[in-house]
Amino acid sequence: MFTLIELPYKSLAPMISDETLSFHHGKHLQTYVDNLNKLIAGTEFEALCHSERSEESVLEEIIKKSTGGIFNNAGQILNHDMYFLQFRTPDQVGGDGASLPAPTTSSLPAPTGNLLAQIVKQWGSVEAFQTEFEAKGTGLFGSGWVWLQANEAGELTIGQYQNADNPVAHGLKPLLTFDVWEHAYYLDYQNRRAGYLKALWDIVNWEELEKRYK
Ligand code: MN
Repeated sequence: MFTLIELPYKSLAPMISDETLSFHHGKHLQTYVDNLNKLIAGTEFEALCHSERSEESVLEEIIKKSTGGIFNNAGQILNHDMYFLQFRTPDQVGGDGASLPAPTTSSLPAPTGNLLAQIVKQWGSVEAFQTEFEAKGTGLFGSGWVWLQANEAGELTIGQYQNADNPVAHGLKPLLTFDVWEHAYYLDYQNRRAGYLKALWDIVNWEELEKRYK
């Protein structure tokens, strides 16, 4: 049985409102978890869940071996787990997200270590990488995900994926992802997907991404 992840923060406001966070995590992701548990009952995948392996590793195996509804729901659980766990409450806001002084670009979170070095090596600057990432997110037609992903050599690419698809299904390591399904931003940004993507940089937890890259 898969379970809904707990969020490591109380609020991501104002970049993502509490209402969006509540629906996105508590309703959308919960539904994918419930659907997958129903769909794998009695299949080879149910037995994997009773093994000693981590939920993440079982999820990756299901994504690599399944199609149809099982693939879609397993993919969406992995996508959302990695999306929600890559954020942190913005520095300029209290721990509960209560106060809302304007963020300043000088104190925005930034990548560090090996991941920073690789981004600068390939894109020239963090800003150039972010510009391409936002453009690929804005340019993705319909529902899906934009991912920063790595191959076995540690080389980075930005991938556009439709619906529930993700780097794991294509043998790549998933690092950073922005959800561009409308349910991720429509309450807060309506049709302004580009504004939503730009705002997310303020809440990215680069320390978590550095761990994923290692
Ligand atoms: Mn979503």
